[in-house]
Amino acid sequence: MTKCGAAITTGSWLTDNMNILITNDDGIHAEGLVALKNELQKIGRVQVIAPDRPRSACGHSITLHKPLRADPVKLSDGSIGYSSNGTPSDCVSLGLHGVVEGSIDLIVSGINLGPNLGWDLTYSGTVSAAMEGAVAGLPSIAVSLVCDKHRPDVDYSYAAAVTRDLALKLMEHGFPKHTLLNVNVPDLPENEIKGVAITIQGKREYDGELETRVDPSGRRYYWLRSDGPKDTLDEGTDVRAVSNGWVSVTPVHLDLTDYKSVELMRSWAIESSKE
Ligand code: MN
Repeated sequence: MTKCGAAITTGSWLTDNMNILITNDDGIHAEGLVALKNELQKIGRVQVIAPDRPRSACGHSITLHKPLRADPVKLSDGSIGYSSNGTPSDCVSLGLHGVVEGSIDLIVSGINLGPNLGWDLTYSGTVSAAMEGAVAGLPSIAVSLVCDKHRPDVDYSYAAAVTRDLALKLMEHGFPKHTLLNVNVPDLPENEIKGVAITIQGKREYDGELETRVDPSGRRYYWLRSDGPKDTLDEGTDVRAVSNGWVSVTPVHLDLTDYKSVELMRSWAIESSKE
């Protein structure tokens, strides 16, 4: 039996005992997951199912051809979560279909170590987990801390607090079905954050290079590498907001249709009907 919450329309979904499912793509022992849990526990019951290993950039992949596991493990705060061999999207499906207790009201994915901005969304395991929640018609949030992955002592506390406040707003106001929130928080001290901005998805591309090497048996192998993203800092975009020190909140819909192109293609006269 599917254990989803009530169908979404706008209007308040706030309850006294919200049942929150969290996951991530950095793995169950990632610090960002526990920071998120600590903060969301202030507004509801938090249950955890997350990948047993880092799964960053796995996109919206799901596991169909091998068994999925969800084993109880002790988290760093002493509580029990479920560690899965599946992807972030699998973890959401496991949670919604009965691995955790009760009917889920809200899904939050993160806090990712590193940005999910612009075209990153198409690769992101963090955002895809929230997309899986949106597919199920549940309020869903993806949250990322825009910081250097190799920086020691990453502080997730502000990003976690922002997510808690936003989750409360989302549940208070309701939201259109099949839309998720993609949140990116600059890695700055709280007093240097300019504020919170509602943004649109911007453009971010990676100048990929293919590095070719040869293994000891003489066979070629390859590394895909990039020197980092190139952002187009258009007005109102997520990439621009974060680069200027703002917390970026983008509502993201599952409909990927380019409506302008639908109109453009009408002039191609490729449509036909046998009726
Ligand atoms: Mn990640």
